[in-house]
Amino acid sequence: MRNTLNFNAGPAALPLEVLLEAQQNLLDFDGSGMSIMELSHRSDVYERIHQGAKVYLQKLLRIPQEFEILLLQGGASLQFSMVPMNLLSTDKTAYYILSGVWSEKAWKEAKKWGKTGILASSKDTNYNFIPNDFSMPEVDSASYIHLTSNNTIYGTEWRNYPSSSSIPLVADMSSDLLSKNIDINQFDLIYAGAQKNLGTAGVTIVIIRKYLLERSSENLPTMLNYQIHAKNNSLYNTPPTFSIYILYLILKWVEKNGGTDRMEQLNKEKAFALYSKIDESNGFYLGHAKENSRSRMNVTFKLLTEELTNKFLQKANDYGFVGLNGHRSVGGCRASIYNAVPLSHVQDLITFMEEFKQRLY
Ligand SMILES: *Cc1c(COP(=O)(O)O)cnc(C)c1O
Repeated sequence: MRNTLNFNAGPAALPLEVLLEAQQNLLDFDGSGMSIMELSHRSDVYERIHQGAKVYLQKLLRIPQEFEILLLQGGASLQFSMVPMNLLSTDKTAYYILSGVWSEKAWKEAKKWGKTGILASSKDTNYNFIPNDFSMPEVDSASYIHLTSNNTIYGTEWRNYPSSSSIPLVADMSSDLLSKNIDINQFDLIYAGAQKNLGTAGVTIVIIRKYLLERSSENLPTMLNYQIHAKNNSLYNTPPTFSIYILYLILKWVEKNGGTDRMEQLNKEKAFALYSKIDESNGFYLGHAKENSRSRMNVTFKLLTEELTNKFLQKANDYGFVGLNGHRSVGGCRASIYNAVPLSHVQDLITFMEEFKQRLY
């Protein structure tokens, strides 16, 4: 029974329409007499899905021709390693902006591979804001700058990305890619695991400027080499065909529902409604993120005491809300409101928050 209100941070809610379409086609995909999972990844039928996903991505995100789209495995976490392995040369430094645990992890992997520097950090205040006040490193010494566009755990999100002039800008967009319009041209490499906003675990999207592919050394392990994946259309080995199929269905769903423009509008609406509830509660609910850094994907808050927070979470659970527990490093509560979370679920949560405040605690 699907009577839950799913606010999971990832893997996260998927649109019911997408699940139903996948279910309908599960046994016999497109008249092939086989499940999509049983088809050869070299077959024409699968090829249509593989190319289709790339074409949708290109269209929905307005990705210019200068970029290559890769569909890889290993999650965003493998990109923490692949980015420095492919882009960082021995004579240069990779600069990291630390805005949460994910960017820290990315930085730690880069440190294993070469020289790194930290441009800015908000660690001292438990990552409650986007540290965007820093000076750019010298162009000649820098390999790239890395940032995390949305900090899933802390509920902070970049509004104005740094303009890096001639230093390549790399972004982990695992939890906000496709949630809004972005100008891809501001970036040189974007990566995102699919299980937050784009589908299901198993496929990782990498959008990379073609000229950067030349940096990949042939001494790299084959499977960790961007250039090889690009040359082989992400079919060097068996890709995660089912995850790519779900990605394809999600992209089709986004297109049908008005594209990233409409997603952005809806996400603004959902986030505004929740933050308003928090702000109007006279301190009953306390937001974690500073106002000008608030995420539209993950809304983090707590109640006055830990005991009250736990009671809130317990009651919420009784009422069918799922996934509202904050990450263990922040505690409190977190409502993840990705594209697939309908406005009606957010409104139900707001009603519950009001009721809890008025009479349930
Ligand atoms: C979830 C998440 C990750 C980790 O993704 P995996 O696919 O589990 O490796 C990395 N970065 C961000 C911003 C995330 O939200």
